[in-house]
Amino acid sequence: MAPRPAVFLDRDGVVIEDGHYVGSVDRVRLVPGSAPAVAALNRAGWVVVVVTNQAGVAKGYFTDESVPVVHAHIGELLAEHGGRVDAFYHCPHHPDGEVAAYRLACDCRKPKPGMLRRAAAELDLDLGRSWMVGDRVSDLEAGAAVGAKTVLVRTGYGAEVDAGTLDRSALNLAGVVENLAAAVQRFELGRGPHRRDAGATSRTG
Ligand SMILES: [Mg+2]
Ligand SMILES: [Zn+2]
Repeated sequence: MAPRPAVFLDRDGVVIEDGHYVGSVDRVRLVPGSAPAVAALNRAGWVVVVVTNQAGVAKGYFTDESVPVVHAHIGELLAEHGGRVDAFYHCPHHPDGEVAAYRLACDCRKPKPGMLRRAAAELDLDLGRSWMVGDRVSDLEAGAAVGAKTVLVRTGYGAEVDAGTLDRSALNLAGVVENLAAAVQRFELGRGPHRRDAGATSRTG
């Protein structure tokens, strides 16, 4: 099968509200509209991949084992609206972390593109036809580093980013929109990566 394009999503500030180190399920709140937006991406045949920096692990705020628990909960909330994340990747590291095992300058903490590259290898993704949606410039940098198109959302930290200062060309920036739902609408991502054969690769579940 040919490599498939993906829509990479940052987690905090894009899919869920950025609650500043969300390490437990009780603090998870979906960004309004994000679940139907993910469902639209699923229907259109994109591989949906969450790539998230979780330096709270390195800083000792929560354990690395708690991260997949939060992700399973996000998956349940999305599923209530028919949405599905195909894979979650998180970076637990931070160069100034308190927890020795995670205190390092890794290649996966965005803006480094390690998580996207790993996803591409494991899921057979076509990065050049993929998108990255984030609320921080570091998300856009990670996407641009692998040749993906990028979108900045105004939810989360995005409200504080001065879009006028962004180097659109270096960041492969397609545009700046209110939220994930608006990104799907504005860039017609709900029509799929390759409309003619989108039906062949889309799965419902
Ligand atoms: Mg974020
Ligand atoms: Zn890392």
